[in-house]
Amino acid sequence: MKNVEEKPLNNSRSKYIVDSMFGTLARKLRILGFDTYYDSNLEDHDVIRIGIEQDRTIITADKELFSRTVNRCSKCNGELKERPKETIRSKVKDGVFQNNECFFECNDCLKVYWMGTHIAEIKLWVQKLNDIMRSTSHDSTADKQKQKSKFS
Ligand SMILES: [Zn+2]
Repeated sequence: MKNVEEKPLNNSRSKYIVDSMFGTLARKLRILGFDTYYDSNLEDHDVIRIGIEQDRTIITADKELFSRTVNRCSKCNGELKERPKETIRSKVKDGVFQNNECFFECNDCLKVYWMGTHIAEIKLWVQKLNDIMRSTSHDSTADKQKQKSKFS
């Protein structure tokens, strides 16, 4: 059962393409120096095409876009089908099961894929990024608070 262990769908971690719903995230990634492709006018198919052409990890909240991106098994090229969460409980690690909502299974070799690997990472990043942003804008926030307290 080694093959259902944690294996990201896309091993490229250095370059990203962000779908149009994540403008703020794209800006933050760029500020932190990540090679991030973002264009609010991009259509879904452009996101996929550029992601594949430039070997970028696709960051998307769009489940449909994701399932079109990973519709083939990387092991046997079989077709991936979305599976209800309950049905894969015994096939993945507890942590994976608990932290992800969207699972796919290969029709042929039954390898399990899930959506969360990168999304979860990104959520963590966003938290960290927000902390960094807060600390850099700390002075102006303090000023505002000072002004506010003057009038209250
Ligand atoms: Zn397969």
